[in-house]
Amino acid sequence: MRLSKIKLAGFKSFVDPTTISFPTAMTGIIGPNGCGKSNVIDAVRWVMGESSAKHLRGDSMADVIFNGSSSRKPVSTASIELVFDNSDGSVGGQYAGYNEISVRRQVARDGTSSYYLNGARCRRRDIQDIFLGTGLGPRSYAIIEQGMISRLIEAKPEELRVFLEEAAGISKYKERRRETENR
Ligand code: ATP
Ligand code: MG
Repeated sequence: MRLSKIKLAGFKSFVDPTTISFPTAMTGIIGPNGCGKSNVIDAVRWVMGESSAKHLRGDSMADVIFNGSSSRKPVSTASIELVFDNSDGSVGGQYAGYNEISVRRQVARDGTSSYYLNGARCRRRDIQDIFLGTGLGPRSYAIIEQGMISRLIEAKPEELRVFLEEAAGISKYKERRRETENR
């Protein structure tokens, strides 16, 4: 499974609908300070269900919505869609037959989020469920941010275990067991 496109609209500095394509296995994003490079990574984490505004470098969830500039008015919603190439079939289950998987999140000024999987409205946990065990979640190791390497080196054994369990694909089953036990 590979991220092939990110479609942004009204998100942080990306006010106009913008599509960023990742045609090959390696893509670099370059640009001057403040041009929006980190906002692209925030966008990915946000769609995966990130619920902490602080992790997205803001104070509240509505801070991800374009809040205006000297020449543009603020907008009322932010939307991000991630398109994954699933032609290798790594996302199985009910999505096994899909070569492309689209995951979208939209948020309004009152902070309410809606999630969509291949265009159909779904719950946040449906999105998290698909990606649990693939290493791609809001806090997992698919996104290595500044400071994360030193955090890993200094991590306690039980914190390191979380990463190993995700890599081994166990975290999905642990999460299901936890949910069953809490019912
Ligand atoms: P650096 O090289 O310094 O790390 P960067 O390219 O990573 O910079 P970002 O942090 O992605 O830059 O982008 C910061 C820009 O995004 C700032 O100009 C900021 O004003 C803008 N920005 C962030 N949130 C919003 C928002 N809600 N509405 C409008 N602009 C926003
Ligand atoms: Mg940055």
